Amino acid sequence: MAENTKVALLGTGIMGAAMARNLLKACMEVRAWNRSTEKVKPLARDGATVSEDPAEAAFGADFLLTMLTDADVIEEVVRDGVLPALSEGAVWLQMSTVGENGNERLARLAAEGGAAFVDAPVLGTKAPAEQGQLIVLASGPEDVRSKCEAVFDAVGAKTVWLGEAGEGSRLKLVVNNWIVGLLGVLAETVAFSRATGVDPRKFLETIEGGPLGLPYAQMKGAMMIEEDFPTSFSAKLARKDAGLVLDAAGDRGLAMTLASAVAARFDEAIEAGHGEEDMAAIYEAAKPKQK
Ligand code: NAP
Repeated sequence: MAENTKVALLGTGIMGAAMARNLLKACMEVRAWNRSTEKVKPLARDGATVSEDPAEAAFGADFLLTMLTDADVIEEVVRDGVLPALSEGAVWLQMSTVGENGNERLARLAAEGGAAFVDAPVLGTKAPAEQGQLIVLASGPEDVRSKCEAVFDAVGAKTVWLGEAGEGSRLKLVVNNWIVGLLGVLAETVAFSRATGVDPRKFLETIEGGPLGLPYAQMKGAMMIEEDFPTSFSAKLARKDAGLVLDAAGDRGLAMTLASAVAARFDEAIEAGHGEEDMAAIYEAAKPKQK
């Protein structure tokens, strides 16, 4: 099955390029497209067909896999003749993080274009994507699930099926609120530690291995201490995700004071020029100011 599977993959950024390589390793045919060609061309060496435009990538494909920034970008890219170009019975695997409203918009677009739609955002960042160790939060029609397994197995360690399309995006928002909140409090804890003359390394060493010592805190905390932020997940996209959480909470009249504060910290870091750096660069907004 995998050998004959044709996947049109739109968006070969940090996540999409890594996922494309794992689909190729699973012997699938990958037609890759990216807006800036320098990020897609190297995939040709791994066996991908590099497409000139999204509709060319989609032509005759069994799956459309989108891994682009947000719903606006996806809508713009997919509207351009992509869905009619897919093969009969093709499935759109929407794996970017688009939030609740974004997901609904894209599901409608799929319905208009006659493609089955699976909402399948992922947990995991650059390294898990490279290692095929993502967790796929999939939701969508029952009758296409078994067909999707080969693609999800190639990019992920685990697929959690959650019900109708939209459930995956909702769980993703919940997890993202946890991640974004952790980052915000970690940045302020490292800053507070420095301001009080406590070596922040001592803080990380003290919590390591115990119930408070998340591996995530060790990894992102070390980046904050070093003030070196090689990008696994950009601050700009983390801010986008905080906004998606706030939108979903706002729609339900739920006040999210902490998420709002962290979003404001991200805004500060982005305005100071750290948007393309890793989300740990939120520390740049929290750190003690030089006197
Ligand atoms: P990325 O490296 O910034 O890639 C973003 C992609 O979107 C690139 O292909 C980019 O093309 C494309 N794009 C942006 N604006 C565009 C436009 N106006 N028209 C056409 N293409 C456009 O992001 P990523 O980290 O791979 O993330 C992709 C998605 O996965 C996002 O929804 C993100 O929230 C989600 N996600 C990321 C992670 C992570 O840890 N990185 C984890 C889970 C989920 P160019 O190359 O031309 O800019």
